[in-house]
Formats: sequence, structure tokens, C-alpha cells
Amino acid sequence: MALEKTNAIVLRVIDYSETSCIVTLMTRDHGKITAMAKGARRPKSPFEAALDVLSVCRIVFLKKRSGAMDLLTEARLERRFRAGASSLERLYAGYYVAELLNLLTDDADPHPELFDIAIETIDQIDSVKTKTNNTSSIDETILDFELMALFCLGHLPLLTQCVGCGKEKTTLSRVSFGMNSGGILCQQCRPGKRNVISLTSTGFAFLLDRTRQKKYLSHPFENDPSADSVQEPMTTDCNNRPESSSFAARDLTTASDPISVEDPVPEVRSLLRNYISHLIGYQPRLQKFLNNSGRRTAASKI
Ligand SMILES: [Zn+2]
Repeated sequence: MALEKTNAIVLRVIDYSETSCIVTLMTRDHGKITAMAKGARRPKSPFEAALDVLSVCRIVFLKKRSGAMDLLTEARLERRFRAGASSLERLYAGYYVAELLNLLTDDADPHPELFDIAIETIDQIDSVKTKTNNTSSIDETILDFELMALFCLGHLPLLTQCVGCGKEKTTLSRVSFGMNSGGILCQQCRPGKRNVISLTSTGFAFLLDRTRQKKYLSHPFENDPSADSVQEPMTTDCNNRPESSSFAARDLTTASDPISVEDPVPEVRSLLRNYISHLIGYQPRLQKFLNNSGRRTAASKI
């Protein structure tokens, strides 16, 4: 047994007995751990008020061997998540971050970068200025967190080339996104695939831009002002089929589609929600509480 000190985010607290709790924590140095907090429910608890969901604390725990539950010996509160008390929407957003950390990571598998991003995200949700319509900023904060979590854990979908054959995509035209395949599909690879979602050109451009901003991938469309109107190699085959020009024509049509001038955030969030549910194998519980209130989705117009 070894005594370990690290920073942690409280993900889950379950009452175990009249005086003790079982706590799931995302730690910076040891990944996700589940520990017994003896005496945590007593009025004069050694953990004070540090063990609330989304609290950030400095902890000391006794690391047990071979599958036995760790023992939390100290937890000093560094930062409390306060926004939940004033806004249900922010409460759900914060709890969703905790749920994703819990579902997407394995025990004792540290991801310090993801830990730091989670702290930053919780801080952003907590500090969004109170105003009548702050939905968009929370939506985008969550969207960025989802992308970063997927990136840190090696699940970011392939967006710059076909996941089936590797053909590079060089335009921002509408694409087919394969949930099972884990990325975009060209027209040759699309047939026969299940769980495929069609993403508008605006949604695709937004998703790429968001990933580029976070420096997840190099952007093949950068510095190419004609990219939107050129013929798309990914949608043509190697035999120069005569109908290949129609792909370019269709792309231009798509670009002027009224759907493409919609706010892309709901569409991209919907895509990522589906993708994450697909990865986990079921829908995270908090997802249905996150709404896109006040925002029209592209899907609703189809
Ligand atoms: Zn392909």
C-alpha cells in the first residue's frame, strides 16, 4: 500500500453507510479511482465539504493492491462548482462533463491533459456570465470538451480523408459520417455501411474549424480559397467517370442550400452526441437534459 497525493475532480459520491461514502474521482496523476471515504458523512467530517460532485480538491489516498478499493484519507477543497445552484442548465452541463469523464476513461489510466481540460471546462461553465440567453456559450463549451475528450482518448473521428480508403477530402462539401467507421466516407465507401449520418457543408466546415482551432489536426483546406468550388477527388473514382462533374455541381448546390446558413452548432453537437453514445454503447444519462433551446437545428428543417 502506498500513500499518494494528487489533484482530483469529484465525479460521483454514493452513500455507503451512515458515516461513509464511496467516491469516484478523476485524478491528474492516477486516472480514475474509486475510494472509500470513511467518516465523510459525519457532521465533523475529515473531508469537510470537499466531496461534492465537480469539486476540485487536493487529495491523499491509500492505494490498495489487486482490485481492493482505495482509501481516501484527506480531501482539501480547492474549488467548488457553484453555477449549479443558480442555473439548471449549467448544473446539467457540469454533470454531463463528470459523466463523460467517468464513462470514457478506464480506472488507473491517467490523462493529465484531459484532466486539465476538464478543470478548464468546469471553470468555463461555472463562470459564464448570467444573462437571459447564454445557451450558445454553454453548448459550445460542451462541444469543445467533447472534441477534446475524444482527441485525448484517441477517439477523434477521421475528418480529412475517407476512413475506408484513405482518399483525401479537399472540399468542404456535404459528407457522410460513418459512426461505426469512425470518420467520413467517400461515395465509393459509403454504400453498405450502417449508422451513417449526413453532415451539411456548413456543419462539416464548422467541425473542421473547431478541431483546427484546438490544433488536433492539420487543415488541408487552409490557404485554398477555391477549395469550396473545386471538384472533389474523394467523390470521384480513378476512371474519370463522366458524371464526376455533377459532384462539383451538387456541391455548389449544397453550399447555397438554406440549411447550410443555419447555426451549425446544434447539428455538430447532435453528431458528436451520437458518436459518443455509439462509442460507449448507450446514451449518457445526462445527454437528454442538455438542450439546444432557442437554436434551430438543421435536422428540423429537413
Ligand atoms: Zn473511401
